[in-house]
Amino acid sequence: MKCSRCKKDAIYFQRQSGQYYCGEHFNSYFVKKFMRGIREDKLIKKDEKIAVAVSGGKDSLTLAFLLKKLQVRYPFEMEAVIVDEGISGYRHHTLNAAKNQLEKLEIDYHIETFKDNFGKTLDSFVENNKENACSTCGVLRRYILNKKARELSCTKLATGHNLDDEDQSVIMNLMRGDVIRFSRGQNYYKKISDKFVERIKPLRYFLEKEIVIFALNNNLSFDSSECPYALYAMRGEVGKFLDRMEEVRPTTKYSLLSGYDKILPALNQCFIPESIGVCEICGEPTMDGTCMRCKILEK
Ligand SMILES: [Zn+2]
Ligand SMILES: [Zn+2]
Repeated sequence: MKCSRCKKDAIYFQRQSGQYYCGEHFNSYFVKKFMRGIREDKLIKKDEKIAVAVSGGKDSLTLAFLLKKLQVRYPFEMEAVIVDEGISGYRHHTLNAAKNQLEKLEIDYHIETFKDNFGKTLDSFVENNKENACSTCGVLRRYILNKKARELSCTKLATGHNLDDEDQSVIMNLMRGDVIRFSRGQNYYKKISDKFVERIKPLRYFLEKEIVIFALNNNLSFDSSECPYALYAMRGEVGKFLDRMEEVRPTTKYSLLSGYDKILPALNQCFIPESIGVCEICGEPTMDGTCMRCKILEK
């Protein structure tokens, strides 16, 4: 098929719009949508300092690439933070991809390891409890990212979550009956405590498959190996379900997120406290007496 805008061969058919895109026009569509999102949602203010979380996968490297592009016309500072959880046979591939690509983009980065921060790797944390790997990893990783962003005096922490990730989280939190998590929005953390660096997700309106195409199209050297703990996660199953729904009812993924965003302010009001206490062990903000991180470290 040919591109809907020029006569070149198309590399992508966008079902929701019925448009065919060649490489060049796909790029301009993607970059424009990204820049518009930053502007309309006021995600980045002039001269502020952004920490970007980079894993070495397509999402975070696409995010770093686009933020670098944005920096050219809009002045702000940026540093990358890479978390090495300590997952044998997996992490060193993604770590190298992250380092290589960030060096190419001339973005300064910091590597933070679970071992240095908590005394052991994720592998040893979950040795007898692999089913919990993703939630343990998530709690500890978010702690490190927030702490490092704060230490670097960053005003925002940008992550590469895409539309598929966001939809999966909506469904998962609902399926677990976790009303608090379900009701959290992007500004939740900032709202409840100064100790949290505000989070932004500039890729949350992009389908995962479009990010793959963009990353390939721009020769980003991302690593696509899958985390060995992914098979224990609920996320994978929910992802497959959403893919199937999208297949039979195109635009399902968009509708789910936009519907969720519409009810979010009401959910926020009903279920999210104005402020919360601090952990009795580490002093970080938490809803219960002891924060999740300290509960994991205590075990
Ligand atoms: Zn074209
Ligand atoms: Zn704590």
